[in-house]
Amino acid sequence: MAKRIDPKKRSMPKQEPFERVRNFDEVALGYTPELAQEEASRCLGCKKPHCVEGCPVGIDIPRFVQHIIERDFNAGIRKIKERNALPAVCGRVCPQEEQCEKVCVLGKKHEPVAIGRLERFLADWEAASGGIEKPNIAPPNGRKVAVVGSGPAGITVASDLALLGYEVTIFEALHEAGGVLTYGIPEFRLPKAIVRREVEYVKSLGVKLHLDYVVGKTKTVDLLLGEFDAMFIGAGAGLPWFMEIPGENLNGVYSANEYLTRCNLMKGFRFPAYDTPLKRATRAAVFGGGNVAMDSARTALRLGADEVHIVYRRSRDEMPARLEEVENAEEEGVIFDYLTLPIRLLGNEQGWLTEIECLRMELGEPDDSGRRRPVPIQGSEFRMRADAVVCAIGNSPNPLIPMTTPGLSVGKKGNIVASEETGQTSRERIWAGGDVVTGAATVISAMGAGRKAASAIHHALSG
Ligand code: FAD
Repeated sequence: MAKRIDPKKRSMPKQEPFERVRNFDEVALGYTPELAQEEASRCLGCKKPHCVEGCPVGIDIPRFVQHIIERDFNAGIRKIKERNALPAVCGRVCPQEEQCEKVCVLGKKHEPVAIGRLERFLADWEAASGGIEKPNIAPPNGRKVAVVGSGPAGITVASDLALLGYEVTIFEALHEAGGVLTYGIPEFRLPKAIVRREVEYVKSLGVKLHLDYVVGKTKTVDLLLGEFDAMFIGAGAGLPWFMEIPGENLNGVYSANEYLTRCNLMKGFRFPAYDTPLKRATRAAVFGGGNVAMDSARTALRLGADEVHIVYRRSRDEMPARLEEVENAEEEGVIFDYLTLPIRLLGNEQGWLTEIECLRMELGEPDDSGRRRPVPIQGSEFRMRADAVVCAIGNSPNPLIPMTTPGLSVGKKGNIVASEETGQTSRERIWAGGDVVTGAATVISAMGAGRKAASAIHHALSG
């Protein structure tokens, strides 16, 4: 008899919206073992599993799902870790709906298998059960590799090479490791204890970590390279863009990077235990429509704002944020002002932001990105009150490393030019990957680039 398939994913227990807007605790609570098994049982066990092709790091998804069905959670997490050193992170923030779940065969007729939630379940189960298992580590091969940046790209390169017997040292500019996972994505979406746990795992493989070390300032790339056989640059895209409209220098105007760093890395949300200055807005507006904008808006709500607006120049359909996060923001009461373009910020005599002048937009023909181009409606100017603005319209790589590294080729947007297949840059013995190469992208794409670079470095150094 054919297996009866439940058309819907098992939903994830979550904190109620009215409750969660008052705290920074994680919103999604994770599957119980029973829910995980029920969800895993929806998998069709395809002979040709497209989901694996949809995963940028090629996790054997059907196999780990099967282990959940058999309640062999140990084997399940081991299977994931063959390809992914950060399963608890990826299970939470990867855009699975655009990757593995998008190509799940079940998704043609019904909702796809909730692969991300199952991955998260296994990672959390392993952490809760006490022992984090370490795979076999090859004996030391005497080769040394420097990694710049401890985000997902750097961590992946470091752990892959450590497993192959390399002596790996990560140099990180900030005082905590993890990159955007630590300073950008808020606690309520990705608890920092989880990132710390994953960083500790990488350190347990023998990887050394130097914090507060700004490559390009503390030492240049070339000086460091004198001490290592190879270098990987995974310095991310931490330079924020602004709208370049009048009034952006008013008090109360932040880049999303600054706003989220003050809140997450510098623990501004735990005032007064931490005395990081961070504006507690009454009416906040966030410019942009991606994950960074959603995170900023939901942070402003939790910091006590009465009203938070997302101001976005296109419509809901074109928003790049994950649908799940848009829905979470809607449930929490964030107000979405679509087809709206800020054109000027106004302030009082003391230099504090008071109002935003905006223009209404309409959608025209698709542009280069394939999304319909927003076109201003002449004479539609209007003003909205706001005492804080967070600009979340994008980032590019910081120019410090390219500026201090002769011969390192850089693209138009300041990104380091590197081979898509190997991460090799224009300089010998230097590889690069993640946001520093692609511009702001995703955790899993940074990890995918890290994996390819690690394999290329191994190939080059092992002759
Ligand atoms: P990063 O994570 O940026 O790490 C780079 C590291 O290099 C940083 O720690 C930085 O301090 C360090 N560094 C920089 N310069 C130097 C230097 N000169 N010397 C030493 N160290 C240096 N992606 C998703 O997939 N899902 C999401 O839900 C999601 N949400 C996001 C929310 C926010 C608020 C932000 C900002 C990004 C989000 N992203 C999301 C994107 C994702 O986090 C990034 O694409 C990913 O972290 C890039 O990894 P990376 O290793 O290339 O760089």
